[in-house]
Amino acid sequence: MAVFLTGDTHGRIDFDKVRRFRKTVEEHGDCLTREDCLVVLGDFGFVWSDPPAEKDAETLEWLEACPWMTLFLDGNHENFDLLDALPVSDWHGGRIQALRPHVLHLMRGETYQIGGHSFFVVGGAHSADKAWREPHRSWWPQEVPDERERAYIARRASELDGVDYVLTHCPPTGQYRRYKERFPRFWGPSDEYTDWLEECVEGKFAYKKWFFGHLHMDLPLDEPHTTLYNEVFDLDGTGLTRFGEDMGPCTDGSRHDWKLRWTPPSKGEKEGRSDYVCPTCGKSVRLHPTDAERGQEERTEG
Ligand SMILES: [Zn+2]
Ligand SMILES: [Zn+2]
Repeated sequence: MAVFLTGDTHGRIDFDKVRRFRKTVEEHGDCLTREDCLVVLGDFGFVWSDPPAEKDAETLEWLEACPWMTLFLDGNHENFDLLDALPVSDWHGGRIQALRPHVLHLMRGETYQIGGHSFFVVGGAHSADKAWREPHRSWWPQEVPDERERAYIARRASELDGVDYVLTHCPPTGQYRRYKERFPRFWGPSDEYTDWLEECVEGKFAYKKWFFGHLHMDLPLDEPHTTLYNEVFDLDGTGLTRFGEDMGPCTDGSRHDWKLRWTPPSKGEKEGRSDYVCPTCGKSVRLHPTDAERGQEERTEG
């Protein structure tokens, strides 16, 4: 059993990473099964037009035909009128809504047991571009939880002893600040919902790592917090993608003890770089490839 995490797909706009992932899985003899999961951390975007666009339905069928289970959190770019109307059922310890038998929406404030890990999930975010969007056509007020939902999420969070992983679409304010320190020109300010996540979820229970999307960047922000966009994070170190907690065993045969190393930008560079480095063996893995490297990857893939 293996779990993979990736960032916003925005419907077909940012879907290439999933297509690439399927190609890799096929090259490995379709090595995944329905026990394995790929989780999209919000802004899934395939519940969007009403009636559903034919192309979106086609892509959902394509996902349904993948050998794994696809799971998604809601972000801010989802059609919540359509999503809210879907029937709710139980799956692996929490409530879900099924778009297809193997494409499931993970709901706000739920805890799931998947592949030997526990996950606490909270979707939603404020849209930075809401002023340019039309209510109930391209923007929905349900993009952030209402008071009743927040009470539910806060209660569930306070009842938890601990989980392995927290998955949200939106970062809590503390992480937003960390991100803005490094990239002051990008993205808007923190808001009442990032504040609410900081106050009602962060620090309420123990967790190993917290992953979120929304910032459109692949970057570990501090030891437990990582934001994902185009990378597929390999939570169980299967080696199917470059990015995981365990890239093969360490020199002494144990798991790597990944520590975050941030290198500020050198002169003429726009961005610095972030690596996970194992102090025992010195091996490192990078979570934020430069555009040049990305171009290289695309070219080698043809
Ligand atoms: Zn997004
Ligand atoms: Zn978003």
